[in-house]
Amino acid sequence: MTVYLVGAGPGDPGLLTRRGAELLARATTVVHDRLVEPGVLALARPGARLVDVGKRGDGGPSARQADINRLLVEAGRDEAVVVRLKGGDPFVLGRGGEEALALSAAGVAYEVVPGVSAAFGAPAAAGVPVTHRLVASAVVVLSGHDLEAGGSAETERDWGLLGASSATLVVLMGAGARERVAERLLRAGRPAATPVAVVERASTPRQATTRTTLGELAATPVASPATIVVGAVAGLRLAGYEDRPLAGRTVVVTRAADQAGALAAALGEAGAAVHLLATRATAGAADGGAALRAALRRAADFSWVVVASPNAVAALFAELRDARALGGLQVAAAGPGTAAALAVRGVRADLVGEPGEGRGAAAALVGRFPRHAGPGPVGVLLPRAAGGRPELAGGLAALGWRVEAVDAYRSVPATADPASLAALERADAVCFASPSAVEGFLGAAGAGRLPPVVVTIGPTTTAAAARLGIAVTAEAATPDDGAVVAALVGVLGRVP
Ligand code: SAH
Repeated sequence: MTVYLVGAGPGDPGLLTRRGAELLARATTVVHDRLVEPGVLALARPGARLVDVGKRGDGGPSARQADINRLLVEAGRDEAVVVRLKGGDPFVLGRGGEEALALSAAGVAYEVVPGVSAAFGAPAAAGVPVTHRLVASAVVVLSGHDLEAGGSAETERDWGLLGASSATLVVLMGAGARERVAERLLRAGRPAATPVAVVERASTPRQATTRTTLGELAATPVASPATIVVGAVAGLRLAGYEDRPLAGRTVVVTRAADQAGALAAALGEAGAAVHLLATRATAGAADGGAALRAALRRAADFSWVVVASPNAVAALFAELRDARALGGLQVAAAGPGTAAALAVRGVRADLVGEPGEGRGAAAALVGRFPRHAGPGPVGVLLPRAAGGRPELAGGLAALGWRVEAVDAYRSVPATADPASLAALERADAVCFASPSAVEGFLGAAGAGRLPPVVVTIGPTTTAAAARLGIAVTAEAATPDDGAVVAALVGVLGRVP
């Protein structure tokens, strides 16, 4: 019912506002730009529909603005919380205003959640203060695209005036237009020696800053996305992302470990690009879905279908030939993520568990589930992973229901996909936080793919690695994420 135009910030998920993160965790649909970093998208609720409407310069698929507006209007009419996730700030050179007007014209409610614009986030991440006492007391944000496109009389006049001023100029969308930018500003009277800082992929682990001058800008190679800062402040060099101890390093962590999220965050904070290697995958049921199909043909035997994960939802819908088969059933979801996975398939859960505070999804759902009472069909259909945990089925049975647990999919060892193998090829190190992480890595990628540096969380994991023929470079001094990062910095880090 509401479309939230959310600013994603320049890249680092830590620069997304708390309001933005909270909405991402609730939205059933997230419509995002290409520039939004995977780490920000990872904050979307599990099972949410993610739609990439990124505009591409390389001739790839790109959605037209009118199509984006239509998508937002449609999703906004059908769903309670829709997020339109835009790079930086929605209203800074990002067409957020047009989207707001289109929603307003269609009578769909919207709200704007500002973000850290690349115009300010990129210079800051490179250690360039856009204003500085006695150096610059004004800053102007400009679109290089407008200048490239030939520019109107207004554009020409603005660049002339600003070129002649002493304000710091921050040029977005200027990579392809840098020759014109330089030419226009020199013509307006800025000295050729004016410092310029070009910040590529700001606030990401791949940030790279080039320092040059206005006279040299045209001949300086620049890869998009880049923010170009022109003015005396660009000659200042305060601490930035590139000064973090693991900046420029790629580190692999296996995803299966419970701690993967926390360890990945600690590594990211130290500046590393983290690659999460999946060691488990889902596969179809051993019977090819026959049991689930048979159960669905007997839908009248059930009064509830209970889904415990987004994977279970996917398995259920893979076998559901006709959505009306669910027509007479009530539907329960173990948690909000599972409910979101249902919602994007057009099913609103009648009951949603709320895991948390030490309670897992199964216990949370059982806690809310009604006791079976009275006549009528008494069955609960429970599509689940083969060999899945028995708590949920047991808990529902204890409430008086006849539970039919059907093996709907399997969790199997994963094999690294080509993208993952390419990331391993580039990786500088791998961190193992448990013996099972070592086994998971070998299963998914093989010993031949080990990065040059191997760090473990402690002696047990080191011993397990040694048994599997892996030489460990360094071990954490204490068994926690911070010590793993410190051990890695000891091996790979730059001296400040
Ligand atoms: N609304 C966005 C700007 C969209 S225009 C904002 O407020 O940031 C896209 C331009 O933003 C890019 O061409 C580039 O100039 C800049 N940009 C976006 N992300 C960037 C990043 N991570 N590093 C450097 N520049 C970035």
